[in-house]
Amino acid sequence: MSGAGETRGVGEGDALYERLRAYAGRPAAHSARGRDAVNEPMIRHWCEALGHPVPPDGSAPATMLQVWTMAGLAGPGGGRSGPYGELLGALDGAGCTSVVATDCEQEYVRSLYPGDEITFDAVIESVSPRKTTKLGTGYFVTTRMDVRVGTALVGTHRFRILKYRPEKRTSTVPGPAADKPRRPRPVVNRDNAGFWEGVARHQLLFQSCTECATPRFPWLPGCNACGCAGWRAVAACGRGTVYSYVVMHHPPFPAFDPPYAVALVELAEGVRIVSNLIGVRHDEVRIGMPVELEFLRVDDDLELPVFRGAA
Ligand code: ZN
Repeated sequence: MSGAGETRGVGEGDALYERLRAYAGRPAAHSARGRDAVNEPMIRHWCEALGHPVPPDGSAPATMLQVWTMAGLAGPGGGRSGPYGELLGALDGAGCTSVVATDCEQEYVRSLYPGDEITFDAVIESVSPRKTTKLGTGYFVTTRMDVRVGTALVGTHRFRILKYRPEKRTSTVPGPAADKPRRPRPVVNRDNAGFWEGVARHQLLFQSCTECATPRFPWLPGCNACGCAGWRAVAACGRGTVYSYVVMHHPPFPAFDPPYAVALVELAEGVRIVSNLIGVRHDEVRIGMPVELEFLRVDDDLELPVFRGAA
């Protein structure tokens, strides 16, 4: 009986998951309408805010997809209703009161043009089994929104959140994480998977636009210079210079030993990457210092491109 208080909530071993996953397939929004038709002023403002070229054919940038579904400040408030609200409420009830958006995937079926009036349905696509993350223990909830013009599907927007019980920072529970703090893991997704495949082969790959040859890094789905979605991967030669840097003193992070330098390295090919410097003291780093690419084995699961300074 004394343990009853501990076994309730996130655990429930895992009866909670059985209850949560029954929500998969249920609607999160039904036959909703875009607040405004696709329109030129919103396209122009969005492009100006993000430094994105205005598509020359008058279409909306594909990555604006979610914009047309947003309710705006005057739209419905944060009130919860329907199955999605019930699901979040059940998670709150189990102690998973914190939420963080983890990733978003979109697919584009056709371009949107001014005058297009969109409708959308959203469905709770999946609820993951219980996961323990650095933030805490909880469940990933994925919703998928299908965006239509008339009856034609124009795109889908998949959105994933982690609803979790926050980790108590004062926890004294011993464990691997407490013994040997690990560096944060990279988030690998469809847009940047090629980069990490390159790292595994000890290549630092950047993208080169197939239309205008503009190099880009970090990896992105489209070219910021011409808007083209086509690209090829190019291996950097490995030479670069320190374009800028900061020396971290505070706040301390368990996996790092301050003070240390975080550098913005400009590669010979013209793109820049944030990385660590090795082989040079933090107080000897200088702007313009030549550096050379190396791959650092951080732990069993993680290898990172770093740069050796020529002090
Ligand atoms: Zn381009």
